[in-house]
Amino acid sequence: MAVAFKKITGKSRLMNPLKDHALDEIPYEIRFDPLTGETGRVFDFPYKADPPDLSETIERSKRLFCPFCPDTLAKSTPLFPEDVIPEGRIRMGEASLIPNLVPFDKYAGVSIFSPRHYIPMEELTVENMVDAFTAARTFIQRIAAFDPLVRFFTINWNYMPPAGSSMVHPHLQTNCGDVPTNELRLELEACKDYSEKNGRSYWEDFAKAEKENGVRYVGEIDSTFWTMSFVPLGFLPDVSCVFTEESSLDCLNDRTFRSFLQGLARILRYFRQQNIFSFNVSIFSVREDDRFRIHARICPRLFPRGIGNNDMAYLQVMHKEPFTMRPPEAVCPKVREIFWG
Ligand SMILES: [Zn+2]
Repeated sequence: MAVAFKKITGKSRLMNPLKDHALDEIPYEIRFDPLTGETGRVFDFPYKADPPDLSETIERSKRLFCPFCPDTLAKSTPLFPEDVIPEGRIRMGEASLIPNLVPFDKYAGVSIFSPRHYIPMEELTVENMVDAFTAARTFIQRIAAFDPLVRFFTINWNYMPPAGSSMVHPHLQTNCGDVPTNELRLELEACKDYSEKNGRSYWEDFAKAEKENGVRYVGEIDSTFWTMSFVPLGFLPDVSCVFTEESSLDCLNDRTFRSFLQGLARILRYFRQQNIFSFNVSIFSVREDDRFRIHARICPRLFPRGIGNNDMAYLQVMHKEPFTMRPPEAVCPKVREIFWG
């Protein structure tokens, strides 16, 4: 098996004021992503988030204009051109999917969950999420049929302002294009490389290795495989989900989609237990590539201290290097307990 969880460990020496300025050593790790080789820094500090006060943010957002609320949506949001989506907007149960005025890709949709301006995290159940996600998949399917050159499909979510959302009103962003993002490009190149060298799918070997290893393994729901990410992307560890049987969101069936949402709701339950009330989700997929598997990451987002500082700083922005305060292995038992609780 060629999947390797490589890390370099070290210690930095200092005279520690918490120990009467005695000589101390602070451990750190530099980890290498098993697929892309990209690095990240991992620490083991006893950090625990304080519960945030969201009420002011929600109240302030109600005083600002919200184009996604039911009384403004029809008038204030764009329509797709008739040749792309003849009905202008995709409606799916409570959800509405509209074009993104900031098109991050050739085809970019915004899937508004429901008429509700604010959905608290504890109400993000499968039933309250399924319409918006199904609308996003329908949009992908329609675009896949409309433009055969489009190859890359992603569904993305910023929940609440700490995760970068400019709107409190819950919505997904779905991007379809023919140029992959940096992350997807690196993954595709690495998947190709892995298959050529090993004659097997990376994802199959990855899931097997994480399961055997056990220290980051969360569990499986049908064909969705859940594990803590070896190289976390956020201030606190994030969770990965691999769809072990499908490569592209346009071919994803309802049953697997629901299994994913079930797992997602359980991860959000863990986040709440940790006082995390904001997160990013991205689901990556590629059309017709046997070497690839749909996979997602769910990353906690927060303002770490009472002064409202961002959890991403120069290291992520300028060096493209993530760091995390807790090792994923240290939090995994609690994630597993809540996931199966
Ligand atoms: Zn609203």
